[in-house]
Amino acid sequence: MVTARYPFSAVVGHEDLRLGLLLNAVHPGIGGVLVRGEKGTAKSTIVRGLAALLPALETVRDCRFACDPHRPDPGCPDGPHASDVVTKPSSLVELPVGATEDRLVGSLDLERALTEGVRAYQPGLLAAAHRGVLYVDEVNLLHDHLVDLLLDAAAMGRAHVERDGVSVSHASSFLLVGTMNPEEGELRPQLLDRFGLTVQVNASRDVETRTEVVRRRLAYEADPAGFAQQWEKADAELAERIVAARLALPGIALPDTELRRIAAVCAAFEVDGMRADLVVARAAIAHAAWSGGDAVTSADVEVAVRLALPHRRRRDPFDEPGLDSEQLEQALRDAAEQADSPEPPDDDGPDGDGGGAPSPEPGEAPSSQEQPSGGGGGGGEQPPAKPAQQFRPRLLQVPGLGEGAPGRRSRSSSSSGRVVRSSTVDGHGVHLTATVQAAAPHQHARGRSGSGLELRAGDLRRAVREGREGNLVLFAVDASGSMAARSRMSAVTGAVLSLLRDAYQRRDKVGLITFRGRDAEVALPPTSSVDAAAVRLRRLRTGGRTPLAHGLLAARKLLAAERLRDPRRRPLLVLVTDGRATVSASQGGDALHDAMRAAALLEADGVASVVVDCENGVVRLGLPDRLALALGGTCLQLAELSAEQVAGVVRAARAA
Ligand SMILES: [Zn+2]
Repeated sequence: MVTARYPFSAVVGHEDLRLGLLLNAVHPGIGGVLVRGEKGTAKSTIVRGLAALLPALETVRDCRFACDPHRPDPGCPDGPHASDVVTKPSSLVELPVGATEDRLVGSLDLERALTEGVRAYQPGLLAAAHRGVLYVDEVNLLHDHLVDLLLDAAAMGRAHVERDGVSVSHASSFLLVGTMNPEEGELRPQLLDRFGLTVQVNASRDVETRTEVVRRRLAYEADPAGFAQQWEKADAELAERIVAARLALPGIALPDTELRRIAAVCAAFEVDGMRADLVVARAAIAHAAWSGGDAVTSADVEVAVRLALPHRRRRDPFDEPGLDSEQLEQALRDAAEQADSPEPPDDDGPDGDGGGAPSPEPGEAPSSQEQPSGGGGGGGEQPPAKPAQQFRPRLLQVPGLGEGAPGRRSRSSSSSGRVVRSSTVDGHGVHLTATVQAAAPHQHARGRSGSGLELRAGDLRRAVREGREGNLVLFAVDASGSMAARSRMSAVTGAVLSLLRDAYQRRDKVGLITFRGRDAEVALPPTSSVDAAAVRLRRLRTGGRTPLAHGLLAARKLLAAERLRDPRRRPLLVLVTDGRATVSASQGGDALHDAMRAAALLEADGVASVVVDCENGVVRLGLPDRLALALGGTCLQLAELSAEQVAGVVRAARAA
């Protein structure tokens, strides 16, 4: 061992995280831990510390898939096995966010394929993590196709590999630990749900705690080995306690009262599906075993609920960021009344009281009175309009092929996407089939005698991969008086919220510029926090004149700055307006003319754009169309933004 690990038992604070990890170590069926928190909170140190506590594994000698000698995987690619046993430390495998699919699931062993002419499988990280810990730092930034592979393996406890003529399946069950900084974007709901427990990690605000953290850290850095030695005994005791709790696990009783308490909390907390109940039950059992009990108590259930439920409430990403702790407390209190009532209520029992507290009516816009505020003038400011119902928007893309961060919007060349073709000049990794095909015709000429291919450097073909990137979606929203008719603004904010939700799912960065009155305002600089954008939008006040040129120039300025900061992320400007410019940006200039000039500048910058046409009324001037033309982008009616509506129109057209 080069440097000693920071001992798990030397960690100060972070009780939830430590407990969550330990419960999973006792009962891997809980399904892992998601750690949410800011940077610099020693998340990784703690996870690595845990791995060192896990009991050593007995494995079959020479099995690269860590088969358990007592229950070897019948489908093990290295099997069938002789009963030769070795013991090795439990593994901690880190999945880097930028890993390729090959790295995760394994691949054809290229060297052996080329030199010996055999198809051999080289195991990936899913094999290495079997019976150990799989750790993903910044799991929220993991590429979608890796997430899918990870979820499949986690759900089945097996990995299946079907590629390049190799077909392999092997056992892969692991304790999944992910860390994320929510400010850098949320996790896809499917992956969020897959984690058994969630813990929130913050640096302590307590002076004593902070002092102790630093004191220990300095002691560790001064003498890692000596420090580790000091804590060796404490770590060894924890490790023993894990083993003891594992042994006790099958004997832990789960009384009916507690089972009903679990069901009641999950029902009151409005979780999706039944998975939550199972995870809470397992975590409560593990906690009872960990605490040395022989039956689950209400205290065990409360601990389990606090760790397993906060991320499971059915919700819209825009409802409220963070975890619903208040709601959770209420659900626990309600459940306590139900579970502790001496007699289980009869079948026809209560439904009015306790349990499912009726949620407040989501409600439509309170009234749709049209304010005759048009006319482009008037300084009258209006309060925010309640957004109309949201919808699934059609996909708006940046044309061409980008090189931005992984996401789900526009096409991009990438090191981890699907292989689309081979090339002799560029690409990522070797394109095996193409390489073999290039070498094959020359085998006689090269005097091949054995089974291996005779390869020359010129045969090498590279895989050109294509994936999807996230973009910077910059919304420029006209909030002037001419847009302010209540029903219209409500439709506009509803549409933009829909686009924001879509941007969240596609891992875009978003920004928001609004313009009304005399000037434009950067309501939200580019960020990955779509929640923040939604909050700003809901508070958007309207009224006043229309400084359209100002809005466009502000967008241009912001995009130029952002290009320096993050040059690979391609922008998409979404301009939401009726186009009725009334404030000029130049001395004595013409408002509309200035707006068109600003649009032309954006076009010259190569910014992709979409104009959302909000013009309505009897006389339509077609200004949004003209703006789109100047921007070199497309123009869509509000109604055309909805994917369902577009599909409906296409169906209607086909039927006609
Ligand atoms: Zn094996």
